[in-house]
Parts: sequence; structure tokens; C-alpha cells
Amino acid sequence: MKISRFKKSHKTLVYFASNFEYREPYQVLIDATFCQAALQHQIGIEEQIRKYFQCPAKLLTTQCVILEAESLGAPLTGATSIVKKFHVHKCGHEGKPVPAAECIKSMTKDNRYIVASQDRLLQESLRKVPGRCLLYLHKATPVLEAPSKASRKWVQKRAKNLMLGKQVEKIDFMKEQQGLKNTEVTKKVNPKKSKGPKNPNPLSCKKSKKDRTQQTKPQIHKVDQTGITKAKRKRKKIPAHVKAALSKV
Ligand SMILES: [Zn+2]
Repeated sequence: MKISRFKKSHKTLVYFASNFEYREPYQVLIDATFCQAALQHQIGIEEQIRKYFQCPAKLLTTQCVILEAESLGAPLTGATSIVKKFHVHKCGHEGKPVPAAECIKSMTKDNRYIVASQDRLLQESLRKVPGRCLLYLHKATPVLEAPSKASRKWVQKRAKNLMLGKQVEKIDFMKEQQGLKNTEVTKKVNPKKSKGPKNPNPLSCKKSKKDRTQQTKPQIHKVDQTGITKAKRKRKKIPAHVKAALSKV
């Protein structure tokens, strides 16, 4: 096998492993169409897949796949005998078999299976779901399909969300830090600010003129005969020109 082919398959496997939790030994879910193509091109599935992946892989199928292949009879006899050799995974349709494609779709919902199939409709359907990994035969050569558009979109979206999440976390962290710093600064610079403005020390201040006059000349109170204290009426100073005018009258 050419190195570039291995690099390509390795890149795809790493992509699915890192983004969709595919793990070694990779589980390859094989259907009768894949077996039929392998038979036509006279290749050994197990040998080819192991060579192609260059890492451990577990080849398996389901009861539904076997039953469908058996029901198709003569044209698929060879493929049926091949598919029967693989380990049969429980699919949940025991006693109530469903078409192979339906069974495979349901199997890939909760588990990480690399689907080995030549069924175009099944492939199309799986490409629409993020995280589905496809293997097919191009003539006698196994090809691990590059991640579908849906898979790439999903990964990009998740990466974007992660970035956003990290940015929000960073901003929150910075805000928190800034907040802590601000309170620390205000505490150091003006710890009693919240108590309001401080009055000057009365002993250190010179008294205003007004205060002094009030002290030296206390308000004179006139006591009349009734004993009621009346405050002295403050005389209004009449300007000279007004006085002159009044005296003329
Ligand atoms: Zn099934």
C-alpha cells in the first residue's frame, strides 16, 4: 500500500477518534453488499482492512444483515457465506428483523461503528448524520471516506462554541479580577469614603467673622412689661438720598 493512502486513512481515523470518540480496536460493521463487492474483486476483507488501517480492527455484522442476505437467495449466496463469518453483534431486532440498512442506521446511533457498505442509499443517509464513518470498496481497494459535510459542520460548530465559551470564561475571569482589584484600590485609597465627607477639626480652624461678632455682640432681647421677650427689631438703614427726599415732603 502506498504511504499516501495510509496517511489519508490515518488522518480520517484520527479525525473521527478525536472528534467523535472512535477508539481502537475500530469496529467495522459489514453488510452483504460490501461482501459481494469483495467477492467480485477477489479480496480478503479482513486482510485488506487490517492492511489499510494498520491498527487493530474488529469486523462484525448483525443478524438483520445476515437474514436479509439469506432472503435474497442465489445471487448473494457467496456474500452471505462471507458475512456469516463475522462476529454477530446484538442489534435489538432479535425476533423482529428489519432491513439491513435500517438495522445499521440504528446500530450507529449509540455506538461508534465504521460502516462497510456499497449500499448507496445507506451511505447517503449516513452522510447526513454527523459522526458517521464510511468504508467502501473502490474496485479492489478499501477507501475510508473523508468526513462528510455534516460531520465537518458539526465539528466546526462545536469548536466555535468552545471558543466562545472560553472567551466568555476569560472575560468573566478578567471581570472578576478587575472587580477585586477595584474594591482593593478603593479600600486602600479612601477606606472611609462611604462614611461621607469629614468635617474639619474645630480646634484647628479659625472662626469666621460672623461667628465672632455673634459671640461678642449677643442678640439683645427687649423685655416689655408683659414679660414677653421680643427680639430687637433690626433697623433698616435708609439711604441718604431717600432721607433727603422724605425731609422735603
Ligand atoms: Zn437488526
